[in-house]
Amino acid sequence: MVVVVGLALTAACGAGSAGTVTAGAGSSAPAAAAPTTATPPGPSVTVTPSTATSVAPATQTASRTPSASPSRTTSAPARRTTRWNEPTTFLALPVVRGRALAGMVVVLDPGHQIGNSRHLAKVNRLVNAGNGIRKACNTTGTQTNGGYPESKIAMRIALAAKKRLEAQGAKVVLTRPREDVALWGPCIDARGRVGNGVDADAVVSIHADGAPATARGFHVIRPASVKGWTDDIAKPSKRLAIAVHDALVDAGQRPATYIGSHDGYDVRSDLGTLNWSDQPIVMIELGNMRSARDAAMLTDPTWQDGVAAAAITAGVVDFLG
Ligand SMILES: [Zn+2]
Repeated sequence: MVVVVGLALTAACGAGSAGTVTAGAGSSAPAAAAPTTATPPGPSVTVTPSTATSVAPATQTASRTPSASPSRTTSAPARRTTRWNEPTTFLALPVVRGRALAGMVVVLDPGHQIGNSRHLAKVNRLVNAGNGIRKACNTTGTQTNGGYPESKIAMRIALAAKKRLEAQGAKVVLTRPREDVALWGPCIDARGRVGNGVDADAVVSIHADGAPATARGFHVIRPASVKGWTDDIAKPSKRLAIAVHDALVDAGQRPATYIGSHDGYDVRSDLGTLNWSDQPIVMIELGNMRSARDAAMLTDPTWQDGVAAAAITAGVVDFLG
């Protein structure tokens, strides 16, 4: 059990509308593997992190095909679940160099900041979240049952994606410079405006969720069309959402069925980060940190770079290409 004293932790990721809860809440979930209906990892695709980066992406889905069995008459979703990454089977995609993003500006917003918990008065201050809503400047984010913070995952993936996007010629701007216990914020409204100041071609906000332990998978949140706020970016943001969503699926990631449209998408009109953007923007919840199996992937450095960052990059390239 994780016991955190003196911290306010969000029950869910900061994208959630719930307020903060006191320390320890939500940290008593058992660490045992979450029950799942998914089939076990396929034996033919086990790859250790040390060799993962040398594996060509094209081999990934092909080798993931389940062996023929008498149950092949089952429905399509049952077959599809066999393709999803599991902690011991994911393949890391190599860095691709090219000029697909030459001249493009991409903003990456690593959610939260590790120092937020030390500056709660500032972080809890209400700000204009757009669309007539006031919300806390920021939150501490969520964490795994083992205490790995969301902000750290978000930053590691953002830095890895920055390298990959730069390898494709993009200029990449981060909304916060580093994971630093001495720093806090920025607030959600400021995060949402970063892309406006640099005329970003795409903005990706990176988070991981804090849902019930049995929930799994990623979801991509795009802004609803709100007159005067996001009506100008709703359509391109939807295209960006589809591009990133599909890149994550292609990388073997499981769309969340516990939230939104139950297929890895959600649409929100209450998120300051999305509402303040004048550029195409999505927020990704890359998995559920309270699921032991999702957490095992989310905290794996090879997955962070070779799957998450690689898929974000592929999605942005698809959107801007
Ligand atoms: Zn978050």
